[in-house]
Amino acid sequence: MATLPPKSCERAYRNILRTTISTLWRMELLNQAPLHLPHINCRKASYIHIARDELQRRDLFKHAQYLRSHLDQLPLLCLRTQATSYIPSHLHLANDHTYTPYNQHYCPSCLPIQIVGNKLHTLLHCPHSSPLSHPAILTLTRALRRYDLCSWSSHTPLQQTAILLGSSPSKLLRKHDKAWTHSTSTTCTKLIYSLECHLFKHQPSASPRPAQSVTSSPASPPV
Ligand SMILES: [Zn+2]
Repeated sequence: MATLPPKSCERAYRNILRTTISTLWRMELLNQAPLHLPHINCRKASYIHIARDELQRRDLFKHAQYLRSHLDQLPLLCLRTQATSYIPSHLHLANDHTYTPYNQHYCPSCLPIQIVGNKLHTLLHCPHSSPLSHPAILTLTRALRRYDLCSWSSHTPLQQTAILLGSSPSKLLRKHDKAWTHSTSTTCTKLIYSLECHLFKHQPSASPRPAQSVTSSPASPPV
């Protein structure tokens, strides 16, 4: 029987371990945030729901595609890991510094209607902030067409949120991952900046500086 050289053995063993651990890791994460639950009730579940399609990649030790670009992805990373102070559901505390459960961080623009101010609401449904997403949605719709993928409206709201935040569409061929990120990242980043600017202007409770590491810790490490 031919024996592999030691380096190749090491590499093969590492790859098997990575795949096995990734499978266990993925199962644990998906079990923590089942899609059938009527609503998202914590920061971690929100994070997992949006990263759901990306968690399907075989090796979770490799960064998601949007993090492997040379472009500035920090705004996307901050928003996805909930390290911002302008999305209400990203905050641990209320304005009076008391702990507030995730599902009571209401969108201030929609009060007195009590709607959780999470990314999905802010980007897609809030009558005050969602119009900012329209130019990005137009660009992404064209990109979906270019790659011969399902239309924007056939994606679920969670998938649409993920795509607006830099994810590749679930049906995109792996060979096009890099090109997708390259052609859409700037659009997604611009959207985050305009959202940030809009919310600081219109939400008196939002602090003028994103709380990247001081008041809010990421919900989960990027995977
Ligand atoms: Zn709202």
